[in-house]
Amino acid sequence: MITRRHLVGAGALGAAALAMPRMAFAAEQADVVIVGAGLSGLHSAELLSALGMRVVVLEAGAQVGGRVQTVQTADGPIDVGASQIGRSYARVLDAVRRHGLELIPEDRDLLGFGAHLQDTWVDPADWENNPLNGTVGDERAINPILMGQAVMARHNPLKEVDEWLDPRFSASDISLRQLMQREGYSEAAIELAAMSAPGIGIDETSMLRMWQEATRGSIDRRVESAPAEVERDHPFGEANDRNLVDGLASISNIVGGCQKLPLAMAAKLGDAVRTGKRVAAIDMNDAGASVSCTDGSVYKARFVISALPFTVLRNIAITASSDNPLQRQAISTMPYANTARMYLTVEKPFWKEDGLPASFSSDGPIGMFWGIDNHTGEGQHRAMIVMVGKVAQAISRMQHEEAEAFVQSELVRMRPAAKGLLRYQTYKDWARDPNQLGCGFSLAPGQVNAFARTMTDPWQVMHFAGEHTRRLDFGMESAMESGERVAIEIGERA
Ligand SMILES: Cc1cc2nc3c(=O)[nH]c(=O)nc-3n(C[C@H](O)[C@H](O)[C@H](O)COP(=O)(O)OP(=O)(O)OC[C@H]3O[C@@H](n4cnc5c(N)ncnc54)[C@H](O)[C@@H]3O)c2cc1C
Repeated sequence: MITRRHLVGAGALGAAALAMPRMAFAAEQADVVIVGAGLSGLHSAELLSALGMRVVVLEAGAQVGGRVQTVQTADGPIDVGASQIGRSYARVLDAVRRHGLELIPEDRDLLGFGAHLQDTWVDPADWENNPLNGTVGDERAINPILMGQAVMARHNPLKEVDEWLDPRFSASDISLRQLMQREGYSEAAIELAAMSAPGIGIDETSMLRMWQEATRGSIDRRVESAPAEVERDHPFGEANDRNLVDGLASISNIVGGCQKLPLAMAAKLGDAVRTGKRVAAIDMNDAGASVSCTDGSVYKARFVISALPFTVLRNIAITASSDNPLQRQAISTMPYANTARMYLTVEKPFWKEDGLPASFSSDGPIGMFWGIDNHTGEGQHRAMIVMVGKVAQAISRMQHEEAEAFVQSELVRMRPAAKGLLRYQTYKDWARDPNQLGCGFSLAPGQVNAFARTMTDPWQVMHFAGEHTRRLDFGMESAMESGERVAIEIGERA
């Protein structure tokens, strides 16, 4: 019997829920309704089905996969979301094998990075003596585009992947700027770190969240007696080591594109997976839940799994017979990082002609340029322009043709040898995707202490999956980790 009604996402009630047709559909019954067909939702569905439970997976998009998305272009498939599978991705590797997919060593080599600061090419190797370098003491020798990463690595106290949640480290639930101020870095160093901050920004992400990712990432690079950890020379993406350990390079890709994995998982689940089903409301008590979609369809189940980013869950109207203020705080306030990326074909590697670095980080209007070699080093190459924050927002406000022309002209201004050699393939801004509204979760300073330790606890019959509910893992593996956790939670309650 519902006695009290509690509402999350009141704003959404106005938009999504009120847009629902009044026509009543007969409610479909299941043991578990899973909202979201990304890797976390699909993996929980696989496991719960194996336990003999009847699951229904509701996916708003026309296709499954979420942040695993492959776009077919004239020059072949391009993964605009996840693509890199590490050697330590036990669950992802197992799923790839179960579904009969083929892996290849990462099909691209991200070329060495330089820096373009204050409209000038800077040689990171000689940065220490560069007059533009305003940092002091031993900061002067730190590669300017890696300042954020270098500071983060230098002060990382975590030895184990679960320690980020250990209250012993609660005093480090602070921002990178606060850490740098506490450790006595110069303002110039802080400014450089702001340009290369690995989280959502120098003020917006908790160090504990950043160290979680870094600590887990270093395990991936050291797994299975791989050669000594490769020195990083670039701010994002991992250095690829092609030596095979148990048949795996340090980074593998799925032949034909990463989205083949969620597509294969969904195909195996058959009609349990429903695409084009945008969930607008969840109504629950201790006995079960009713999940309503914008097309008027209703699904009733003993349990419901939220396998959506909080950016979109906060737009779903949740009514519950018992309130959960902490959960509500997490859903409505957890910030998300964003990235927008432009993918280009490079007709000829112009970096071999102008002698400038193939890849570079800049403080200018196009952010970061990744020059990507093909394996043979000959013929067509690729490039990716990685934009974050205000840079991404400015480019995304333009029409596609305008954005493409702007990026091309800016590149040619910086390095004339690029003229006529770049061909646009595709563009993706994850904050503009209505089913994502961001590319990855963050935790603001103070939020690890405020709710991260308990935000994955079930709220009545609702369980929480998704990469943002990770405890130990990162990337796609964290989505799979969370799918497994909720399947175990529900399996134990059923
Ligand atoms: C640009 C980019 C690059 C990345 N690169 C890598 C990489 O190389 N390696 C790696 O390991 N990881 C990488 N990741 C991270 C990885 O993609 C994610 O961790 C993982 O895919 C997240 O899965 P998920 O199930 O948690 O969420 P999602 O994949 O976000 O799934 C959520 C699903 O919910 C659906 N949905 C949203 N709203 C509704 C609604 N109202 N009703 C119903 N359904 C809804 C969405 O459409 C989506 O399908 C990358 C991510 C991005 C964005």
